[in-house]
Amino acid sequence: ELVYINGEIIPMADARIGVEDRGYQFADGVYEVFRLYNGRPFTFKEHLDRLERSAAGIKLALPTPRTELEAGLLKLVDRSGVREGMIYLQATRGVAPRNHVFPESPSGTVVAYCRPLPPIPNPGEGEGAKLMAVPDERWKRCWIKSIALLANVLAKNEAVSQGYDEAVFVENGVVTECSASNVFAIINGKIVTHPVGSKVLPGITREVLFQCAAELKIEVDERTLMESEAVRAQELFITSTTREISWVARWNEKYIGQGRCGPLTAKLHRAIQQRVRQETNG
Ligand code: PMP
Repeated sequence: ELVYINGEIIPMADARIGVEDRGYQFADGVYEVFRLYNGRPFTFKEHLDRLERSAAGIKLALPTPRTELEAGLLKLVDRSGVREGMIYLQATRGVAPRNHVFPESPSGTVVAYCRPLPPIPNPGEGEGAKLMAVPDERWKRCWIKSIALLANVLAKNEAVSQGYDEAVFVENGVVTECSASNVFAIINGKIVTHPVGSKVLPGITREVLFQCAAELKIEVDERTLMESEAVRAQELFITSTTREISWVARWNEKYIGQGRCGPLTAKLHRAIQQRVRQETNG
């Protein structure tokens, strides 16, 4: 297994990260997950753009110029031989004597590696996701894809330990997003989801979904979504880079829709897969 580390591609077992890396000590870093189809990263540019925005959001200067990073990642994908899977990338402020104050000239650490992923169920198929509502105890800069994920990790583990698949954050009755995905309701034929910002990551899949919705003439309503509406929605689904779309079967004890994937969810999923094919089969 190979790893990209500060511009080099080496066996993962040989990679070394300093004990005083600020990612390790302060979670002072950001990350990205890219999906590989047919050995090609999907929405590569969009993910790199978000990486730059996340880095700027924590005042982190990426140690590698973008074109170099892009070329390095493509080389990593090629040499890893992973065709259906993902790239995990994280960038931290690097090694420096432990101090909350930023080092004057941060070294920066960029690490990336590929992993295969199991195939995604066909649109409308597979088991629906079971969501457990949890309080939103995260910080107010959720638009930054920060590696500080403890609140997400605790929420997801709470959900999984109780037999659920994903934790959905609800604060004062308002539904924001899930621990590792965005969440959407179909209400009166429209897609309803909370706007991105302090409590919602600008999901790349969310963006692709909106483009597909526009082509399919399905309206999108970015507004406050109440839990009371979500549990009564015609359809509910979640999106992320690794899952594309998953239909939601349950919200706490309550079954959603007819206990199977809704027609608009399946239609949107087919449209997303068409976008994937267009971009990665070429
Ligand atoms: N919200 C959170 C908190 C996430 O961790 C993710 C997964 N990265 C998403 C939303 C979905 O974003 P994307 O579609 O870019 O994977």
